[in-house]
Amino acid sequence: MQNLSSFDLYQHILLTDFLRYFIAAGTAYLVFWVIFKKQWAHRIIQQKPLQAKRMWSEFGYSMSTVLIFTIIGFGLMSLKNAGHTLIYNDLAERGWAWPFISFGLMLLLHDAYFYWTHRLMHHPKIFRHVHLVHHRSTNPSPWAAYSFHPMEAVVEAGIFVFIVFTIPAHGLALLAFLFYMIARNVVGHLGIEFLPKRFIKSRWVNWHTTTTHHDLHHKHFNGNYGLYFTWWDSWCGTEQVGYQQAFEEVTSREKMGQAEESGVGKIGLRKAKAAAIALFLLMGSADAQTPVGNWKTIDDGDGKARSTVQIEAAGQGLSGKVASIFPRDCEPPDPVCEKCSGERHGKPIKGMNILWGFRKSGTEWVDGSILDPANGKTYRCKMWLEDDGNTLKVRGYWGIFWRTQTWKRVG
Ligand SMILES: [Zn+2]
Ligand SMILES: [Zn+2]
Repeated sequence: MQNLSSFDLYQHILLTDFLRYFIAAGTAYLVFWVIFKKQWAHRIIQQKPLQAKRMWSEFGYSMSTVLIFTIIGFGLMSLKNAGHTLIYNDLAERGWAWPFISFGLMLLLHDAYFYWTHRLMHHPKIFRHVHLVHHRSTNPSPWAAYSFHPMEAVVEAGIFVFIVFTIPAHGLALLAFLFYMIARNVVGHLGIEFLPKRFIKSRWVNWHTTTTHHDLHHKHFNGNYGLYFTWWDSWCGTEQVGYQQAFEEVTSREKMGQAEESGVGKIGLRKAKAAAIALFLLMGSADAQTPVGNWKTIDDGDGKARSTVQIEAAGQGLSGKVASIFPRDCEPPDPVCEKCSGERHGKPIKGMNILWGFRKSGTEWVDGSILDPANGKTYRCKMWLEDDGNTLKVRGYWGIFWRTQTWKRVG
């Protein structure tokens, strides 16, 4: 590498960084979402198609990350060539075992670095400016592997700086680390759980994170902060409560189309199942035209999911209750409504009825009421659907003022 000019070195790193991302994300996308899409359809974690617009955005931000990684990589390689880093060239220098040991050390160090910087980036004061770009992908695709705001890309690159000055690493061990890192990043954002059901039960492997693990982080905005291993999340109590069940649910799904493959004449359970699934899908698509269903509410302060609300048909109108709450680190797991008056005072917010009334008027539901458990006040409310029934706009009125919240359909 010493005989490369600075410009050649820069180009070399740029190409390597770009190809590393493009080949890893592209292969995963092509194999799972294009060529073998049918075979994997039943394992799509969120059971939703990927949006082209979102993937282009993920790709665009990943290109900006490649550029930032290249600039920092160039700086580090220049330092290495001047002899200022711990990177070494001669394998004999530290024996054959060291490249393997140092590789393991790099993973451990990176896992800790990632977990703690990731949690820091979820701090309400930092989240919006640094980490929100990555979380715009609530249903991530492999292209989201490097979809970071430039500031987050700098934070992510920090691990290389850390490593080259703390761990004496042979170039090959460093290269293996770089490839393992992109592979795990792509797998985390694959959107399809390809591991077998028994993975989570086996104590030999279940301390590795899975696609479902990180997918849930994107879906719910909190919990499951780890990168390679589940250790930090379990030590710090940040593993999502439903992770194991979610993994088991995805990996137990039956392959689609099996009923048809079983052949004409074998009428029975399988056909009944197929009919039930078709009916379920039909009901699902009909449901998409009304607010009936489960919704994730987002805090407009920090962009994080606050709770899920379950809306049901009630007579001619609608009613909605809080189905689950995602408390912040400092909040109690099962908060009560302290500011509510009357019979709601001091009652748990989970399970509380917060929406009632409403009548359909054209494409809107109007004349309803919404209770804000945070201040115990009730507001006049109307709502309407957007984005093919996947977004619910909820507008509360207070005198002549109003505020509109955006809720996202769950599942
Ligand atoms: Zn995050
Ligand atoms: Zn992610």
